[in-house]
Amino acid sequence: MLELIGLNKRYKGEAEAALDGVHLRVQTGEFVAVLGRSGAGKSTLIRCVNRLVEPDAGRVLWQGRDLTAMSAAELRRARMRIGMVFQHYHLLPRLSVLTNALAGRFGAMPRWRSLPGWYTASERALAAAALREVGLEALGRRRVEELSGGQKQRVAIARVLVQQPELLLGDEPISSLDSVTAARIMRHIASLHRERGMTVLLNLHDVAVARAHASRIIGLAGGRIVYDGSPEALDETA
Ligand code: ADP
Ligand code: ADP
Repeated sequence: MLELIGLNKRYKGEAEAALDGVHLRVQTGEFVAVLGRSGAGKSTLIRCVNRLVEPDAGRVLWQGRDLTAMSAAELRRARMRIGMVFQHYHLLPRLSVLTNALAGRFGAMPRWRSLPGWYTASERALAAAALREVGLEALGRRRVEELSGGQKQRVAIARVLVQQPELLLGDEPISSLDSVTAARIMRHIASLHRERGMTVLLNLHDVAVARAHASRIIGLAGGRIVYDGSPEALDETA
């Protein structure tokens, strides 16, 4: 279970709080979509979970452990089990598609090393299977900056497939993509949820997409939770 307790965050120089007393409990295996207008605090909320953003107050408990109290080393270990997909991909530049898929779990290979020397055969096989699953098997040796946006996001999904995290966070993972590619990425995320029982917490700005995939919707406005319920109940209030 993931539990956010009294999260507050106000960025330096900002008058308004980005998060204002957020309490949220996510059960293992839930698929939660966070919705809200631009500036509502969605990205801050997601990023507080793995401490890409440090909250000013409040705690994040994950499987009984306080992520906000962890040392850097403990946090690194916890992050191995928490996957993340970003709007702007956040892949390792200059490195190959295959290396990017492997790096989330096994660490990045220095550029001067060769792939077979750095990763074991079984690690490479795992990454090759992940690339097949996202339809990038032919592009494993390409450098990631040569890919289209949709291909880059598929590399990010392959990285999650290799990492096999228990929790997947997504910060607008489909906002940079055209609708066909976006649908494809959402299907990948949904199948990770369905087939591996992965807990999913992501922010989206498309209500229809959230409705199609999430089992629960959180509405944020002004850094506060203003809706928490099923996609069906959202239809009635909308
Ligand atoms: P959303 O993801 O819903 O668009 P954000 O969490 O990005 O919302 O932003 C919430 C509020 O915090 C907004 O008012 C935004 O301008 C502000 N904010 C976000 N990131 C920063 C930052 N790095 N520095 C200053 N203000 C920020
Ligand atoms: P943008 O602001 O262009 O939309 P993102 O929202 O994806 O890009 O990322 C914003 C910031 O979050 C990055 O500039 C970086 O400092 C931080 N960040 C992203 N990914 C990671 C990561 N894996 N580890 C540490 N910091 C990260």
